[in-house]
Amino acid sequence: MVEHQGRPGWAEVEDFLSATLVQGGAGMEAVVRSIDEAGMPRIEVAPTAGKLLMLLVRIQGAKRVLEIGTLAGFSTIWLARGLPDGGHLTTCEFRPEHAAVAQRNIDAAGFGATVDILIGAALDTLPTLAGGDPYDFVFIDADKGNNLQYLKWALRLGRPGTVVVMDNVIWEGTILDPGSDPDAAAIRAALEFMGTSDSFEATAIQTAGAKGWDGFALAIIR
Ligand code: SAM
Repeated sequence: MVEHQGRPGWAEVEDFLSATLVQGGAGMEAVVRSIDEAGMPRIEVAPTAGKLLMLLVRIQGAKRVLEIGTLAGFSTIWLARGLPDGGHLTTCEFRPEHAAVAQRNIDAAGFGATVDILIGAALDTLPTLAGGDPYDFVFIDADKGNNLQYLKWALRLGRPGTVVVMDNVIWEGTILDPGSDPDAAAIRAALEFMGTSDSFEATAIQTAGAKGWDGFALAIIR
């Protein structure tokens, strides 16, 4: 998530939605605390977005989920909650210290046997997954500069019908001024690829809340 000044009201509405629909964090308070305690950036998805990921995994009937960008495992645990018994989730994290915090949180949430964390740059670890069963759901939320490459890996590791969610695609609106920021340019290029590639049926939704003005892209692989 990007830094944000916030229009008055967005954060309060977000708090209301979280309290009303996500029941005060649904047991995720310790995960959020672990992010603060480890001095990690508060760039996990919002609770409402985490619950959306869980619902999307469930709606998709996904049994195998791939996540790129673990941080402390907040979105990982939400995604894992959407899986049926016997489901599996692979999550990619560059920083070993983030992965260590995430592993503790994932174990404490009861998903130690469900989730594998691949430590290292995702572009190095994703190739090790080739040749396995396809993933039914892919969540992309790591270094934005590699989003286009991650979409191409989603195509390689997914199947027709795989759902792909890519976070942070509005980036405070800077995607309309890609010269201002290399990440904005990369996000825009990834959106343009989604829109022009025959391989995706895609849309994107803007969001505003405690995490600022941003959004996510949602696609299925054709
Ligand atoms: N999905 C997480 C959540 O909502 O709880 C937040 C992920 S955070 C936005 C991005 C994470 O991607 C960070 O932990 C960062 O260390 C990791 N990351 C950055 N570059 C990466 C790379 N090249 N490969 C894998 N992970 C990377």
